[in-house]
Amino acid sequence: MAAYEYETHDYDVVVVGAGGAGLRATLGMAEQGLRTACVTKVFPTRSHTVAAQGGIAASLSNMGPDHWQWHMYDTVKGSDWLGDTDAMEYLAREAPKAVYELEHYGVPFSRTEEGKIYQRPFGGHTTEFGEGPPVQRTCAAADRTGHAILHTLYGQSLKQKAEFYIEYFAIDLIMSDDGACTGVVCWKLDDGTMHVFNAKMVVLATGGYGRAYFSATSAHTCTGDGGGMVARAGLPLQDMEFVQFHPTGIYGSGCLITEGARGEGGYLTNSEGERFMERYAPNYKDLAPRDYVSRSMTMEIREGRGVGPHGDHIHLNLSHLPKEALQLRLPGISESARIFAGVDVTKEPIPVLPTVHYNMGGIPTNYWGEVLNPTEKDPNAIVPGLMAVGEAGCASVHGANRLGSNSLIDLVVFGRAAAIRAGDVVDREAAVPSTNTAQVDKALDRFDGLRHADGAVPTADLRLEMQRTMQDDAAVFRTSKTLAEGVEKMTAIAAKMGDLKVTDRSLVWNSDLMETLELTNLMPNALATIAGAEARKESRGAHAHEDFPDRDDTKWRVHTIARVDGAKTALSYRPIIEAPLTTEEQGGISLKKIAPKERTF
Ligand SMILES: Cc1cc2nc3c(=O)[nH]c(=O)nc-3n(C[C@H](O)[C@H](O)[C@H](O)COP(=O)(O)OP(=O)(O)OC[C@H]3O[C@@H](n4cnc5c(N)ncnc54)[C@H](O)[C@@H]3O)c2cc1C
Repeated sequence: MAAYEYETHDYDVVVVGAGGAGLRATLGMAEQGLRTACVTKVFPTRSHTVAAQGGIAASLSNMGPDHWQWHMYDTVKGSDWLGDTDAMEYLAREAPKAVYELEHYGVPFSRTEEGKIYQRPFGGHTTEFGEGPPVQRTCAAADRTGHAILHTLYGQSLKQKAEFYIEYFAIDLIMSDDGACTGVVCWKLDDGTMHVFNAKMVVLATGGYGRAYFSATSAHTCTGDGGGMVARAGLPLQDMEFVQFHPTGIYGSGCLITEGARGEGGYLTNSEGERFMERYAPNYKDLAPRDYVSRSMTMEIREGRGVGPHGDHIHLNLSHLPKEALQLRLPGISESARIFAGVDVTKEPIPVLPTVHYNMGGIPTNYWGEVLNPTEKDPNAIVPGLMAVGEAGCASVHGANRLGSNSLIDLVVFGRAAAIRAGDVVDREAAVPSTNTAQVDKALDRFDGLRHADGAVPTADLRLEMQRTMQDDAAVFRTSKTLAEGVEKMTAIAAKMGDLKVTDRSLVWNSDLMETLELTNLMPNALATIAGAEARKESRGAHAHEDFPDRDDTKWRVHTIARVDGAKTALSYRPIIEAPLTTEEQGGISLKKIAPKERTF
């Protein structure tokens, strides 16, 4: 057995992750009077949320008429009828409150002439239950909204005396013998010490796993660590086959150009200079949802109308927009286009390509953020002591496809909800669970095994193999053949995890070892993604299956539940929650309005 000493810390709540979701949860927990620690592998304001540009959706009606029910309808339709209706209602209803709270905490939103929060149009956000024109619902701080939110929430969390453990890497969850989560084991990256956090509630806010793919807009730290920890604890992942490709990643680097660019009037063209989105989505054109636009772009390229010497990308045009508007509303992306594409947006189009951007799937939760471990008897059974929020979680509000600007609002609405719930269920007077030493030893043994791994395959090589396979076989268009081959290849790749080679054995700033731990997390996320995709014989949202082009609500309006054990993935299904929180009589949405129908734009 590996001999590592560790320091023990006791808290009411430990939040793992300091992105928008983790910080909003941390702040809320501390406000509830819970002793709260936030553990994060990167400095809080370097979390991927800092890169969010476009904005955060809420029906404030600052720029014209809007209603939470219209936002809910758009989210239901955007999800291609796979979201949980109660969670989607909660999101749309609570969104305005959550945004005003951000404003009062100090987020420096852009303003209208009258001093109200500025809102821009974003894809899939409409009026009159999809019958009316696009709505301006996305609240923005220029094109640096995530940056503004993250800095504000970090400051507020410090003010509330939440305690931060920065550059601590969470290795594994500590589970009790009766299946509750009681803490987390961490490695302090800068001095190599080990730390055990015991807590009455653990909140996973570890973000997405975009880095399972070769080309992604997300940071290199987005390695699905929460999903990995959950899989190793024998708990499931949900709806992992739904991976969002953002239409406008810069060709080559994958760096994001916000959808706000199209919201402000930008449009896409093919090699014939045609604004082709008018053909695919006559009503909403370039502001159709992301799955739709990405698919349309891919069709143009496949049919020989791509731009560039290889005809393999598309143009995003902004040069017709007034220079002042570009400077005021889109300063960051003008800079990105210059640095990453060598393009002056006031004169030339930006070369773009659909790029992996967001994971709709994740750790299944209810709308309070409580983690679910579905059984046949109870598809909504809760794991005591464990919550998941933000991109790591799956509440599920985004279903098969997330609308732009609906993630930032998901972070704050559900970060806040988790805190409200914990305020109710965590007993402040009770003792903190004592250290389950057997579980800690197991985590440290795994850590030690990887630290001394002396096989034939360097971590970076195996990671690249995984990323290329996912990019080739689980991308925008999927067929039975590519998916079946993909599952086979990924199973073989995962089997090589036992043959990894780590060259650095030290404990201090060992990035080789950290990346190896991250690979052990990416792998179960990737396996669940491709296995879920292979099994789902329909097309829905981001999952476009060429051999099964239609949505099949009779058979497939269900959540995929994936349990990954080593290289093996077992799938089962959980019914979606169809009932909203409130009935029409109680002021809720009419069921007729949200009944499944064909999704056109
Ligand atoms: C470029 C880009 C632009 C975007 N723009 C928008 C937008 O305009 N509007 C919108 O709604 N959405 C946008 N999104 C999506 C949205 O920003 C993300 O979904 C969201 O920020 C994820 O937040 P999070 O808090 O869940 O995780 P993150 O912000 O990714 O934070 C994860 C946290 O977990 C910590 N962590 C992870 N693993 C460990 C571990 N093992 N141990 C300790 N700590 C760990 C990290 O340190 C970090 O603090 C964008 C995404 C990208 C990539």
